[in-house]
Amino acid sequence: MPFKSLGLTAAFVKAVEEKGYTTPSPIQQKAIPHILEGKDVLASAQTGTGKTASFTLPVLQYLTETKHPKFRPLRALVLTPTRELAAQVYENIKEYSKYVNIKSGVVFGGVNITSQKAMLKYGVDILVATPGRLLDLHEQNSVSFKRIDVLILDEADRMLDMGFARDLNKLISFMPVKRQNLMFSATFSPEIRKLAEGILNNPVSVAA
Ligand code: AMP
Repeated sequence: MPFKSLGLTAAFVKAVEEKGYTTPSPIQQKAIPHILEGKDVLASAQTGTGKTASFTLPVLQYLTETKHPKFRPLRALVLTPTRELAAQVYENIKEYSKYVNIKSGVVFGGVNITSQKAMLKYGVDILVATPGRLLDLHEQNSVSFKRIDVLILDEADRMLDMGFARDLNKLISFMPVKRQNLMFSATFSPEIRKLAEGILNNPVSVAA
């Protein structure tokens, strides 16, 4: 099965082919068409399954197709539990968006906040962030969530394990109610299911 048959456009097919991918992985085959349709998705997927491409490709395509010619508000947000994962997701986004006019950024704690503020002021379409630093930036009015269309929680189980539930709920309280939600998790405890119920709207469930 080629990437094209999932509904991805030439700019993204070319970018993944240049990465050496020949066929979409099972999670990509199952998740990408639903995400392109705008549905909420709850995905069960471990690292190494190709989960990152399964949410970044369709979200980047959505951002490209609905881009305003002049304004670049933040419209998609990927939350991750660690800075390492944030950096990795951001690297993937940069590679997959090389043939489209989409700007991306990454913010996480433990590094200087000033350059992150400057990047946000310049404007990005999609941001990858860890919850704590993102809350700091929001409290300092350096980022707005008012135009967010898509929220992605990556490794949601690890976010709960690391005690981010409160931060997550606080961040979400600043976002528009009408948005697409994607949640990826390797495990499904009762706590994760509760978090999913509070965030996702009538989700399609997929597994790698
Ligand atoms: P992830 O599960 O997103 O961390 O991805 C694991 C690794 O698989 C990464 O190095 C990706 O670049 C790679 N990858 C993702 N999708 C594919 C694919 N369809 N074919 C081959 N490799 C892939």
